[in-house]
Amino acid sequence: MELRYFELPPIGTNAYLLIAPERGEAALFDAPLEVTTSIAPILEKRGCRLTGLYLTHGHWDHTLEAAEVRRGEVPVYCHVADRGLVEDPSQMADFLLPGLGVEPAQVDVELQGGEVLEILGEAVEVRFVPGHSPGSVLFYLRDQGAAISGDTIFRGGVGRTDLPGGGFEILEGSIRQRIYTLPQDTILYPGHGPSTTVEQERRSNPFVHD
Ligand SMILES: [Zn+2]
Repeated sequence: MELRYFELPPIGTNAYLLIAPERGEAALFDAPLEVTTSIAPILEKRGCRLTGLYLTHGHWDHTLEAAEVRRGEVPVYCHVADRGLVEDPSQMADFLLPGLGVEPAQVDVELQGGEVLEILGEAVEVRFVPGHSPGSVLFYLRDQGAAISGDTIFRGGVGRTDLPGGGFEILEGSIRQRIYTLPQDTILYPGHGPSTTVEQERRSNPFVHD
């Protein structure tokens, strides 16, 4: 199993590609601009097809190419509380970059949080971490000791909480109850910026510390 990351336009959003060449399968986490053209050569070279697009949340910079990915008959997974943002991005029109259109994408599988998905043959726990958006989740890849954590926490930072449905107290609760409770050496792969670990943030995150 390999994890590749891509930092993509228009505002430096990370997408992650989990690849299982032995299965001929791959899974994509988030869909910023240019993600399809970024991953296509890798999928082709490794002989892998995408089995799912897993959205950490419904903000436009993470969903810009969700519809494009879905056209390849790839099911889209998203938390129920962010489903509306993905299917009707005009809800966030006030927060879009000028001139940028976001194509609506249909969500095929609604997540609730708390479920364990099987992704590329591995158990992946979905943890509900609202606060940055109402339906933010993280995907905890137990066997990899890693979590694709979206915009809830960053290295030395946290996600903004001033967007619709967000709130700092909710975010803080998510971080304390559902992120800081992961094994301490879990690597966090956030939606923006470099990776970090649970332990590092618990000790030194200036916004939510122990
Ligand atoms: Zn966001």
